[in-house]
Amino acid sequence: MSIRVGIIGYGNLGRGVECAICQNPDMELKVVFTRRNPEQVKILTEGTVVCRLEEAAAWKDKLDVVILCGGSATDLPMQTPEYARLFNVVDSFDTHARIPEHFANVDASAKEGGNVAIISVGWDPGMFSLNRMYANAILPEGKDYTFWGRGVSQGHSDAIRRIAGVKDAKQYTIPVESALKAVRAGENPELTTRQKHTRECFVVLEEGADAAKVEAEIKNMPNYFSDYDTTVHFISEEELKRNHSRIPHGGFVLRSGVTGWEKENSHLIEYSLKLDSNPEFTASVIVAYARAAYRLASEGQTGCKTVFDIAPAYLSAKSGEELRASML
Ligand code: NDP
Repeated sequence: MSIRVGIIGYGNLGRGVECAICQNPDMELKVVFTRRNPEQVKILTEGTVVCRLEEAAAWKDKLDVVILCGGSATDLPMQTPEYARLFNVVDSFDTHARIPEHFANVDASAKEGGNVAIISVGWDPGMFSLNRMYANAILPEGKDYTFWGRGVSQGHSDAIRRIAGVKDAKQYTIPVESALKAVRAGENPELTTRQKHTRECFVVLEEGADAAKVEAEIKNMPNYFSDYDTTVHFISEEELKRNHSRIPHGGFVLRSGVTGWEKENSHLIEYSLKLDSNPEFTASVIVAYARAAYRLASEGQTGCKTVFDIAPAYLSAKSGEELRASML
């Protein structure tokens, strides 16, 4: 019997999860829950229903795992604890500073409901976190580096769109090549924010807007741009649509460390991702962890977990025997 999956929230990530489930024959998407009018939410999987979120409780014994695809800012802090009481759940909560608090809230309700919850799954947090942890455990004496990009930052694009005179915008975060090169060469550089990443903005102006004023406002925006070297390009709406409608992202996690009595040998661990679609890749990671949530729950486990707590074989559709024969 296949793993019966539900989705809560149907935005970029929800659509990505729907698509990823199609690549995993051991899983079946049963239902999508939304806060909007279900008639206005068009999904692609035949035979799957769209329901109002208030109806979720009625599905309690009909789903093996529910994937929460709401936003980290306001949806997941409420939704994950609420639905972990009813279902095994997985979320992609990415507000790093609030993960300990979110973990505690979700752990309490998952235990209360006798369910498994896996939080903060994706690529960062997620696959990048795992690689930081492995590298630190293996090379206790060393230095960590994370570079993001080239990729679209939704938060920075939104910040530009809020400026008066801006019709639309996309912002790319780009790692500084010379900084990456120095890390790869084992130079262990101390890098400031400005030395690690640059920001490139593609902006469509409203008619009659003052380009110089908008550019200055972007470049001087505290927290978002003032600590970075930022380039601003003004382009037409057509060009934005044609060349900048995808949501690519990625980055690099590196640790350079030393071993030997004289620390005479240096080592570099590098993990990199180059993603055409941030939500589709994030969704693919989440679906593998949904399989793990189902399996852990089948073993009688309860409570909140992160990627650090899940043994790798739980992610794979292959059996232990198949994995040992083909991947060790
Ligand atoms: P979206 O803004 O596309 O969707 C968030 C929610 O908004 C949806 O669940 C949906 O809920 C609602 N929504 C979507 N489209 C519409 C619409 N047209 N009108 C009204 N409401 C809509 O966010 P993403 O899917 O892009 O991202 C979700 C979260 O994923 C992000 O907040 C981020 O935290 C996380 N993420 C994590 C990553 C990681 O590596 N850990 C990587 C990438 C993202 P409903 O259907 O109920 O209306």
